[in-house]
Amino acid sequence: MSGTDGPGTGTGGNGAEGLGADRPGRLGEGTRAVRAGLPAPVKYEPTLPGPVFAAHFHLPGDPTGPYTYGRDENPTWTHLERAIGELEAPGESGVETLVFASGMAAVSAVLLSQLRSGDAVVLPDDGYQALPLLHEQMRAYGIEVRTAPTGGDAQLSVLAGAKLLWLETPSNPGLDVCDVRRMVAAAHEAGALVAVDNTLATPLGQRPLQLGADFSVASDTKGLTGHGDILLGHVSCRDPERAAEVRRWRKIVGAIPGPMEAWLAHRSLATLPLRIDRQCATALALAEALAAHGDVTGLRHPGLPGDPSHEVAARQMRRFGSVVSFVLPDREWADRFLDALRLVDDATSFGGVRSTAERRGRWGGDAVPEGFVRFSVGAEDPEDLIADVLRALDEAAKGAG
Ligand SMILES: *Cc1c(COP(=O)(O)O)cnc(C)c1O
Repeated sequence: MSGTDGPGTGTGGNGAEGLGADRPGRLGEGTRAVRAGLPAPVKYEPTLPGPVFAAHFHLPGDPTGPYTYGRDENPTWTHLERAIGELEAPGESGVETLVFASGMAAVSAVLLSQLRSGDAVVLPDDGYQALPLLHEQMRAYGIEVRTAPTGGDAQLSVLAGAKLLWLETPSNPGLDVCDVRRMVAAAHEAGALVAVDNTLATPLGQRPLQLGADFSVASDTKGLTGHGDILLGHVSCRDPERAAEVRRWRKIVGAIPGPMEAWLAHRSLATLPLRIDRQCATALALAEALAAHGDVTGLRHPGLPGDPSHEVAARQMRRFGSVVSFVLPDREWADRFLDALRLVDDATSFGGVRSTAERRGRWGGDAVPEGFVRFSVGAEDPEDLIADVLRALDEAAKGAG
């Protein structure tokens, strides 16, 4: 296996090289995922060391790291950060990854560590529903917030003079896509940094750093950890100064993950390719089944050949994600559909092994029709899931009029 992990080369936990730069591109994604971030083997120690519960570490003398105080660093994070880094930028050294208590902690860390009063920032107007809260906060700090839709690369039209361009592609919940390479080229030309919220795609679907972005940011609450039982986020970036600023922000606000969450996340990474392959394949099959259904309009999934996003998505994505969105005739219709589903939980969030769906309009934050459904495809057998959806659509139609 990986030559860097040979027995006896261990430096005792955090000194391992993981699947480092000496083996670029030689391993498949499944192999990478099961080995990602593992320390060198130590006799009688587990393969993935258990969570380290520590507020402080033995620290005689000068207080030098890596492990001093639990808000700054933790060995369980170190393993996970290495693992995520190996998925974000395989075979590349020098990419730094920082884990956070949630996706919003990671998003805020980039925006609030990079922007100052008087700076301008460009964000999508159709992105994650908590972004408007951040707009408000940033405006209160004297930052100029500009917004434009994700589709059609519209954010480029308000880029002039901005310090940072924030992309979310595919966008949640509308599943629009922008051309990351094109946006990055224009932003860098204009002197702006680029951050991509990569939550929906996960690093197996899209690698923002390799598309040129300065920051890849995600809510790992969703597909990356995939079991709907923890909140987590991360930021990956190449520039050590930027990374230090994000790290400093994490220390200031203390938005740190618990060791148990970090360990569970690392454990879940091993099955990421299996889960994502299954979920993405079923999502496409479901989208195709819905495309043929008369009650469904506004169907979106970047993997559908006829989707307005497909061409751009196919150029920059390796998998198209587990989410399908569509519109049913009205609010009551959508509610009847959700009630009739037996294998799908009516719940928010997405990317988990159990399918979930919700009427997105119930939150009031997204600009979507009342009958808009965001459907997250899980790891169920595709025939079971699609049969359940088609049956629920029939039942929803029976209640009409
Ligand atoms: C869920 C989500 C977030 C926020 O993540 P939390 O883990 O809930 O804090 C940010 N961006 C996108 C695109 C999301 O879907």
